[in-house]
Amino acid sequence: MTRFANTLDFAREMDQQDALAHYRQQFHHPIIDGKSVLYFTGNSLGLQPVKAKEYIQQELDDWAKWGVEGHFHATNPWVSYHEILTPASAQLVGANESEVVCMNSLTTNLHLLFVSFYQPTAKRFKIISEAKMFPSDRYLLETQVRHHGFDPDEAIIEIAPREGEYLIREEDIIAAVNDNADELALLFFGGVNYFTGQLFDMRRLTEAAHKVGALAGFDLAHAIGNVPMQLHDWDVDFAAWCTYKYLNASAGNVGGIFVHDRHGDNTEINRFGGWWGHNKSRRFLMENHFEPMSGAEGWQLSNAPVMGMAILKASLDIFQQADINVLRAKSLKLTAYLEFVFNDVIGQFPDINLEIITPTDPARRGCQLSIRLAGTNKEFFQALTQAGVIADFREPDVIRLAPTPLYNCFEDVYQLGQTLKSLAQDWQTKGWQTNGWRTNG
Ligand SMILES: *Cc1c(COP(=O)(O)O)cnc(C)c1O
Repeated sequence: MTRFANTLDFAREMDQQDALAHYRQQFHHPIIDGKSVLYFTGNSLGLQPVKAKEYIQQELDDWAKWGVEGHFHATNPWVSYHEILTPASAQLVGANESEVVCMNSLTTNLHLLFVSFYQPTAKRFKIISEAKMFPSDRYLLETQVRHHGFDPDEAIIEIAPREGEYLIREEDIIAAVNDNADELALLFFGGVNYFTGQLFDMRRLTEAAHKVGALAGFDLAHAIGNVPMQLHDWDVDFAAWCTYKYLNASAGNVGGIFVHDRHGDNTEINRFGGWWGHNKSRRFLMENHFEPMSGAEGWQLSNAPVMGMAILKASLDIFQQADINVLRAKSLKLTAYLEFVFNDVIGQFPDINLEIITPTDPARRGCQLSIRLAGTNKEFFQALTQAGVIADFREPDVIRLAPTPLYNCFEDVYQLGQTLKSLAQDWQTKGWQTNGWRTNG
């Protein structure tokens, strides 16, 4: 690994050597109050691909020109628009093309997948998941469990970090799986935890669930476009993701699902049907009796929202060009550099209680670093925002910084370090009027 230095020259040298550096220009970088900002929030909302406008314009033009005939005559015919997103989506999650489709949105898709893959019985009804999971996922679990007549307190087993720790130990998850072997229906985790940035070994967890006769599903909101995956080979049963985080497809845009081929042709699986999931060759015959398509496409309900998908296509085209494995190689360096710069700066201020809670092992994290503040004081975060750093704050006390390999550069990280340093100095010269930064007091 490169020996890092917290200097502008070093950061610029790294950028010069970076074969992916030109992708930065393929995104719009926000200018707020007339100033360009340091954007570290690709984990919450990715930046806009410059070409997004062109891709949407194409669909608007085709709509203007063809009206309804655009379904078949548009440059990218709308009737099959979702299909052109499949190869890139499949590559990102490591799936066969038959195993993925873009549709709906994340929480909606998870509910639809639970209809199929959470089929509790009186004996086998429990779900193992992470403590403090993303609220939408937690509500999903609670309402699904209730829908089947079970009590969430009894059915949902949350695995928490051990006392005094921030990360979940995988051996604790596996122990819980084994302890509940006969009652476990499903293991459901975030591939990357949204709060701590911890990346789970999805293969290992899936294997543990399968061993006791349970299924394994993952929410990939923070994993897709961030870390390469091999869902098919890992034997994961199902997964879903959103596309507005690392996939830069705009707020609330269409999501995606993975259903392992093992299940894709099983027409016996319980599912909610809609015409877009019906046998494609008979879709327009408007007849009764739902006959699901083979593969993930058989879970579709509605015809595809083409405008949003056009933006997603603009972004996925970039991912295909750049290659997720190449992006990951840069990401490992960029995040390690952020860790280095952060520790170098904060190390100079022993009174300041800020610590990185994300795993230090690069194999156990994506690009995000989560930094815990002392107590619940938000002032540090507010000062950071005022200084032109777009990061995000998650209650009760965590700032998340995500340098993305597509559009962040090493100089961004260096400049962030300089900002941190000047904020820390400010606080010190102000005589610690605010109490959020102190370890003792
Ligand atoms: C971002 C995110 C969501 C958001 O769900 P939507 O249905 O897209 O609003 C859900 N779960 C996790 C883990 C997330 O990170």
